[in-house]
Amino acid sequence: MPRGLRGAMSTTGGITRTYGLHRHFSRSDSDRPSGGIRRATLRRIAGYFKPYWKWWVVIMMCVGAIAGLNVLPPICVAGIIDLAIPREDQRLLLLLAGAMVGLAMTSGLISVLQQTLTAKTGQSIMFDLRNELYRRLQQQSLGFYTATRSGEIVSRINNDVNAVQNVTTRTLLAIASNLAALTATSIALFSMNWRLALMAVAIVPAFYLPSRIVGRIRHRLSTRTQESQASLLAFMNERLHVSGAILTKIFSQEDADAEDFADRSAEVRDLGVKQAVVGRWLFMILSVFSAVGPALIYWYGGREVIREELTTGLLVAFAALLTLLYRPLVQLATVYVDIQAAVAVFERIFEYLDLSPDVENKPDGQDPAPVRGRIEFEGVGFSYPTPLAIFTEAEDDGPSRPKPFALNEVSFAIEPGEQAALVGPSGAGKTTITYLVPRFYDPDEGRITLDGHDLRDLDQKLLRRHMAMVTQETFLFHASICENLLYANPNAGLDEMTAACRAAHIHDFIESLPDKYETIVGERGFRLSGGEKQRISIARALLKDPDILILDEATSNLDATSEYLIQEALETLLRGRTSLIIAHRLSTILSSDKIVVMDEGRVVDIGRHEDLLRRGGLYARLFHQQFGKVIDNS
Ligand code: ADP
Repeated sequence: MPRGLRGAMSTTGGITRTYGLHRHFSRSDSDRPSGGIRRATLRRIAGYFKPYWKWWVVIMMCVGAIAGLNVLPPICVAGIIDLAIPREDQRLLLLLAGAMVGLAMTSGLISVLQQTLTAKTGQSIMFDLRNELYRRLQQQSLGFYTATRSGEIVSRINNDVNAVQNVTTRTLLAIASNLAALTATSIALFSMNWRLALMAVAIVPAFYLPSRIVGRIRHRLSTRTQESQASLLAFMNERLHVSGAILTKIFSQEDADAEDFADRSAEVRDLGVKQAVVGRWLFMILSVFSAVGPALIYWYGGREVIREELTTGLLVAFAALLTLLYRPLVQLATVYVDIQAAVAVFERIFEYLDLSPDVENKPDGQDPAPVRGRIEFEGVGFSYPTPLAIFTEAEDDGPSRPKPFALNEVSFAIEPGEQAALVGPSGAGKTTITYLVPRFYDPDEGRITLDGHDLRDLDQKLLRRHMAMVTQETFLFHASICENLLYANPNAGLDEMTAACRAAHIHDFIESLPDKYETIVGERGFRLSGGEKQRISIARALLKDPDILILDEATSNLDATSEYLIQEALETLLRGRTSLIIAHRLSTILSSDKIVVMDEGRVVDIGRHEDLLRRGGLYARLFHQQFGKVIDNS
C-alpha cells in the first residue's frame, strides 16, 4: 500500500495545521453543480432525523395548528371594524376581542409543546452523532492521532456537533413554521380579495435573488470560520498545555506565540464580522421589500375602499395579514442561508465519519487464544502514514517522493516465554517494532505472526487482550488510582488489585496517600513521581496478566531506591511471559534470551549478549559506550 506524500501541508511557525482539510473542502465545493447542496448529503442528514419521525409528526401538527391560529386575529379585527362597531354590538365586540386573547393563549400553549419536542429531537440527534463520531475516532490507528492535532479532533466533536443543533431546532422548525404560515396566510388573503392578493404575491420573486447570492457567500464563510476556529483551538491546546507551556517558556517564544495567536484570532474575528455583515445586508434589502408591499396595498386597497368595493375592516385585516405573509418570506430567505451553513457543518462531521481506519479489523477476525506466545517478524517493511494519506479521499496529486521506511526487511522470532531485548541507537526503529506487535499499525511489507497466525487475520481487540504495554511515559487518567488500575482489568477484585500493587512495590506507597487507592491522580490530580507512576503502570500490567509483554524501559535517571523497586517489580512482571523489551538497563540486557540489534530500521544482528559482544559489531560499540564505565568501575 504505497502512501506517497500527497500534497504539501501548510505550515505556520513550523507547525502543521488543518491537514488537507482545506483541499478536501474546496474539492467538494467544486463537485457541486452551482454552489448548492448535494442531494446525497441531504439524504444522509435526513437519515439522522429518521429515528425521531414520530416526534416530527407531532411537531408538524403543532406548526400547522399555530399557523392556522395566527391568521385568525386579523379576521377578528375585520369583524370588529366592519360588524361590531357599525352595529354598536357590544356582545360581538367582547366576543371578538376575547377570541383574540384566546387564540394567542392557545397558540402559545401549542408552541411550548412544539419547542419541547424540537429540543428533544435536536439533542437526540446530537447525542447520536457525538457517539458515532467518538466510536469512529476510537477505531482510527495511532497514525491518525499523531497526524491530527488533538485540538482539532476535540473541536469537531464539540463545536460541529453543537452547531448541528441549529439545523434541527432552529432551521428546520423555521422552514416548517414559515411554510405553514405562508400557506395559511395565502389562503386567507386570496379568499378575502384575489386582486389585492395577486398584487401582494407579485413582488415575492424579488426576495429570492439576493438570498441565493448571500447564501452562497455565507456557506463559504461558515466553512472557513469553522476551520479557523479549529485551528485556533488546536493552537491553544498545544500552547496552553504543560509540555507546550514549558517549551514556550524555555525558548522565550511568548511574543512570537502571542503574535501567531493574534494572527489566527484576527482571522476568526474578520470572518465573524464578514458573516454578520453579509446577513445584515440581506436583511436590510428584504426589509425594504417588505415595506413596499403594505404601501402598495394601502394605496390600491384604499382606492377600492373609496369606491366602496372593499370594506375598511377588510383592508386593515389585509394589511395585517400581509406582514404575516412577508415575515415568513424574509425568514425563509435567511433560512436558506442557514441551511447552507448547517450543511457545511454536517459535511465536516461526515468527513471524519467517512475515515476508514487504516488498520482494518476483519469481520471474521480470529481469537488467538490459547496464546503460546511465539512472535515472528517476516521481512517486515513499514513507513509511517503521512498526515494527508489519513484522509482517504485526498487525491494523489502531490509530489510522489518515496517515503523513508521506518523498518526495512525486519525478520526475527521470539519463542514462547522468551525475553527479547531491542537494542540500537535512537531512531533505529525499536519503538516502531513495539507498535506493530499490538497492531497499532500494520506493516506495509511482509507479515508478523503470533503462533503462526498473521496478525491481520486476528481480531484486534482479542489480540490485544493477551498483551500489556509498559511505556517510558506512564499515562494515568485523571481518576482515582483504583480506577486507573482497573482500566486494565475491570473484573479484578480488590485482593487481586492489592496483590498486583504489592508485587509492583507500590502498595505501601499508595496506602500512605491521603485517600489511599481513591486518591485522584493524573494531569490535574495528585502528582506522582516518575518512579511511582512507572510502578503503578507495572501493577496495571500485572493486573491484566498478559501472555505477551511489551516494555519500553525508562531511560530517565531514577534514584537508586526507585530503580531497585522497579527492577524488582519488573522481574515479577516478566516471569513466564513472552516479552519484547526496549532495553536500557544492563541487567535487562544480560538476562535477555535474545538481543535484536537494530540500526536505521534494519536488524543488524541477533544473539545473546556474550555472542554479540564477541562479534564486536554495532552492539559491542553501543555496549561499551553505554556501560563501559559501569563495568570498569565494578
Ligand atoms: P527508536 O525507538 O529506535 O528510537 P523509532 O521506532 O521511534 O526509533 O523511529 C524509527 C523511525 O521512524 C525514525 O526515523 C523516526 O523519525 C520515524 N518515526 C517515528 N514515529 C513517527 C511518526 N509518528 N511519524 C513519522 N515517522 C515516525
